[in-house]
Amino acid sequence: MDKIFKKLFRNPDESIEMAMDSEFRFRCHPGISCFNKCCSKLDIFLSPYDIVRMKNRLNMTSGEFLLKYTDTIIPKDVVLPFVKLNMGKDGRCQFNTDAGCTIYTDRPSVCRYYPLGLGLVTRKNVGGDFYFLIREEHCKGFEEDKQWSVGQWRVDQGPDLYDDMNKDWMDLVLKKKRIGAGYEPDEKSFRMFFMACYDIDSFKSFVFESAFLDVFDLNEEEIHFIKTDEAELMKFAHRWLQFVLFKVPTMSLKKDAAKEKNAGDKGEGSSCGCSSCP
Ligand code: SF4
Ligand code: SF4
Repeated sequence: MDKIFKKLFRNPDESIEMAMDSEFRFRCHPGISCFNKCCSKLDIFLSPYDIVRMKNRLNMTSGEFLLKYTDTIIPKDVVLPFVKLNMGKDGRCQFNTDAGCTIYTDRPSVCRYYPLGLGLVTRKNVGGDFYFLIREEHCKGFEEDKQWSVGQWRVDQGPDLYDDMNKDWMDLVLKKKRIGAGYEPDEKSFRMFFMACYDIDSFKSFVFESAFLDVFDLNEEEIHFIKTDEAELMKFAHRWLQFVLFKVPTMSLKKDAAKEKNAGDKGEGSSCGCSSCP
C-alpha cells in the first residue's frame, strides 16, 4: 500500500522532508531545453476530482474518459482499484503536444505538484503531511534562477482545491489501509467503489434513475445540491461509500429501507438496504 501512495504522488528521489516554508529553486518555461521531456512514460494516478475536471474539459462523460484515457490497476496488496493515465503508444502522455499540455488549466493534481511530491505520514492516518523534491536528471528547471517556498509553489500551481475535493476519498483509501487484509471487498463492493470514485456520470444515473432516493433519507436542499453541482455529487459519493462499505453513519436510511436493511443484515437483503446497488 505504501508503494501505491508513493506512486500516487510520485516516488521521492530525495528523502528530505520539506515543510511549507522550505525553499527550492525551479522554473519551467517553453524556452527551456528540456521542455516537454517530462510528460512521457509516467505513472500518473488520478484522483476523483482530477477525472471530473479532465472529462469536463474534454466534454466527455466519465465513462468515455475512463475508457479512452486511463488504465485501471488493482495492486495485489490493496484490494481497491486505482486509475492512472494511459500513456500513448509512443509512451507520451496523450495530452502532451509540442506546444505543451493541452489541458493545462485542468491538469491532474500530480502534474500540479511537480517537481514536488506529496508525502503521507501514515502512522497518524492523515494525508499530505510533507513534501519532497523530485529531481529527475533530464529536468533543467532546477538550474533556473527562480526561488520558491513550498507554500508559494502551492499558491502558484493551485493544488489546494484538489486536495480539498479529494479529502474524503483519501480518507476512504486510508481507512482501507488501516483495516488492511481484514476487509476484502466482494465484487459488488468493488464495482460500487469504482463507480462512486471514478465514474461520476454513472453514479449520477444511479442516484437519480434508480430507487436510491426511496432508500436514503436526503432533504430537498441536499438533493438539489448533488443534482446541480458535480463536485457536491462527488463528495456525496464518497460519503455514501463510507456508509455502504465501512458502515460509518454518514447517511440515514428511510424508515422502510432501514427495516429492509435489518433483514439484510440477517442475510435477507443487500448490505445497504438498497435493492438497486450496482
Ligand atoms: S523537465 Fe522540468 S523544466 Fe523541463 S519541461 Fe519538464 S518540468 Fe519543465
Ligand atoms: S496531463 Fe499535461 S502536464 Fe500532465 S503529464 Fe500530461 S501533458 Fe504533462
